[in-house]
Parts: sequence; C-alpha cells; structure tokens
Amino acid sequence: MRAFGLLASLTVILASVSCSTGDGDSSSAGSAEPGRPAESAQAPPPPAPPSGGAAVTDFRNVKIFDGRSDRLSAPSNVRVKGKRIERISTEALPDEPGATVIDGGGRTLMPGLIDNHWHTMLVRPPVTQLTTLDPGYLNLLAGAEATDTLMRGFTTVRDLGGPSFGLKQAIDEGVIDGPRIYPSGAIITVTSGHGDFRTPADLPRKAGVESRQEELGAAMVADSPDEVRMRTREQLFEGASQIKLTAGGGVSSPHSPLDVTTFTEPELRAATEAAGNWGTYVAVHAYTPQTIQQAIRAGVTCIEHGHLMDEATAKEMADKNIWLSTQPIPAEMIGAFPPGSDEAAKAKEIVDGVNNVYQLARKYKLKTAFGTDILFSPQLAQKQGALLAGLGKWFSPAETLTMATATNAELLAMSGKRNPYAGKLGVVAEGALADLLLVDGDPLARLDLVADPGRNFTVIMKDGKTYKNTLAS
Ligand SMILES: [Zn+2]
Repeated sequence: MRAFGLLASLTVILASVSCSTGDGDSSSAGSAEPGRPAESAQAPPPPAPPSGGAAVTDFRNVKIFDGRSDRLSAPSNVRVKGKRIERISTEALPDEPGATVIDGGGRTLMPGLIDNHWHTMLVRPPVTQLTTLDPGYLNLLAGAEATDTLMRGFTTVRDLGGPSFGLKQAIDEGVIDGPRIYPSGAIITVTSGHGDFRTPADLPRKAGVESRQEELGAAMVADSPDEVRMRTREQLFEGASQIKLTAGGGVSSPHSPLDVTTFTEPELRAATEAAGNWGTYVAVHAYTPQTIQQAIRAGVTCIEHGHLMDEATAKEMADKNIWLSTQPIPAEMIGAFPPGSDEAAKAKEIVDGVNNVYQLARKYKLKTAFGTDILFSPQLAQKQGALLAGLGKWFSPAETLTMATATNAELLAMSGKRNPYAGKLGVVAEGALADLLLVDGDPLARLDLVADPGRNFTVIMKDGKTYKNTLAS
C-alpha cells in the first residue's frame, strides 16, 4: 500500500472533537522548580513563584540561533516565564526567586524543530496491518510516537492527514507528551484518487453508506464541488487548522497513477473558498506541473511534494508566492513496497525527483517548508532529524535550520485565526512561545548535530515546560 503522500484505509480511531489550547492556562505551563522539599517542619515555605504562578526558567550563558540569522549570538541569558520567552540579554538577568537555572555552558539555544508534513496517526503502524489493527492499539501507537517525536526535538508538527484530533487533545491537555499538532483532519480525495483505499467490492458507491476510511475520519471521497465543500467544512467543524486535498495521483494508492490530476478546478475552488471563508487555507498533494498549475488557479496556498515539477511551474509558484512544502523522501521508501510492484516504481520516480525539487526551490527562491512525510516505519521515524540534516546537500546549515524553524512557522501562521496555538513559533525572541532546544555544539557549523537528538539535544522545552534536561544534577 502506501508510503508517503498519504493515508490508508486505516482502522484507526474515532475522530474526536479537537481542543484548542488558547493562551490562557499559563499556570499549567513551565517547568516548575522541582522544589525545595521542606527539610524540617520549621523550614520556610518556598518563595511564591513570580508573576502570579508562572514558572520561570533561566538559561545562562547560551549562544542563540534565533531561527533566522546565519550566525550565533554573543553569549546571552534567556528567561522563560510561563509559556513565553520573556527576556533575552547579554547582561546578567536579575535573580528571580524560585527560578530553575540551566547553565548552558556556551551551548546553542535554538527554536524547537517543526515538521510541516507529518502524519501523527500513521508513523508507526505497519502498512500491512492497517486494516486489521485494533483502533485503540493504533491510538496508543500514535501516542507513543508523539512522545518520541517531541524527544527528537520536533516540538511542532503539521498533520497532513489522518484522524489526529483526539491525539492533539490528549497532548494539549497534558495526558501524554507530544508536539503541538496543526491538524488537517481527514484527507479529501476523489473517487480513485490518492487516499481512496476502497476495494472494487466497495463500488459503486452507495448513497448514504460510508467506507471504513470515512467512518474513521481518515480520508473522505468527494466528487463534486458540493461534496468537497461539505467535507472541508466537516474538518473545520472538528478543528482543522488547514485543509488537505490530494490534487493528483500518489505512490501508495492502488488506483491513482502518478501522472493523473484528480480534482477539477471548480472542485478545488470549493475547498479554497470554504477554507478562505474560515480564515485559513488549503494545501494539496501534487507532484506534476499540470496538477500544481491547476491548484494554483483554484486558489491553493501550499503545494505538498512537487517532486516532478518543471521550471515553468517553479517560476509560476515564485511569481504567485505559492508555498512549497516538500520532503527529502529517502530511498528506503522504495523498499516499503513489494519489489517489482507499481507502487515501488512510483516510489522510485518520486525519490528520483528529490534533487529536482530542491534545485528548483533554490533556483527560484521558493518559499520552502520542511517536512518528512514518514509513514509506516518507526525505524525511519528515528531518522527524522537525519533527514533534516540531509538538506545540507542543497542548503547551508543556517538555511536548513531556518527552513525547519522560522520559515515553517510562517507557513503554520497561514492558518490565521484557526491557528490553535496563539503566539509566535519558530524563533528565539522576546515574547515568542518557549519551544526551545539546547544543543551541545554549534549546529550552524555542524548541521549533523540535529541527526542525533538523543546525544546532542541536552534540553528540550515546549511551551515553557522542560521535557528533557541532561544537565540537571
Ligand atoms: Zn503525506
């Protein structure tokens, strides 16, 4: 079955209603100072945390990669209060009673990484068992993978398809540890399009009868502007921050050749209108020039993949300021399919297009977002950071890290008021949300540091809360 590009007929989950975390619960954020357990009954109570209970963490003596600059800052001190970065200074900050102090020792403080093409529900389950696994088990797999994702330093992911609303809610409520999720909800596809994993026995479509993938909220089939509009609005109803359609064929879908354009322009436009009315945008899966060009005409904001695009299409994307969200699909993905299969051949075509898309992105200075689109492979998921480091083949370390932080955050912000996380992401700046990594070394000199987060990320913080700190005594 599939690999990148999308969804399967997973037996996953009951999509549940999503929960936005607004900005209001700062009391729960922040790595509380582990405390000063009373050593005797006479010990004075710990000083009240400053600022109405918001926990404070001070990073001392860190050099900062701010998400945009091509060089590190001078040695600095950074104060996190509650969910946000309150203060950055090369001067010593005044002592704050109760603050947790992290002595950076000259290490690099940088924004948390962002993966802008991720499928939280589909990373771990084996593709061969998708239709038979218990939905509860799949949810637990996704939860465990979410924790691992965060511990690789990816503090935010944009979910490009799958029933991720429940997982997002559990993470936001602190039930489990995981990244921020910008959910798309179900992928919207046409009959026989990428994401339609029905079998011939399911045809013809019967009025009022939904396929398993639709019941699960994994992928929705829509064959007219009216149906597209309804399916788009259903995802918005559930809390989608952006909408995902498959505008052309994909690798893993058995009935969608790579060369085909699936939706018609009016169908795509129904989605961009409905999303636009809701203040957000549409991203489409698209590989070929024809598919990409039609999507642009229909008002699509972001092209996912683009590996088979040509010069004229790249130029049009540049002229019209269209986002390119693409991925360094690794050759291992070919092996995810049976040797000699159509899917393996399609996978090879896309892997061969990786160099093409990054060269065009560079040449035409496309607004390029970073993602990995890892599916059905816990082993590949462990290489999430290594895939990012691999962009060093086309970009400088600073360009690469900017793409995965500040630039990716710009794309996230295109969701406007549907953005589930109010505040600035992807930068180290006063007032920004405190998603931070403390790196043991200089990633602008050694991009490969991000390939081994277990060893090189000494602190991982999300929303002001510390999830990892190997410097703590
Ligand atoms: Zn995908």
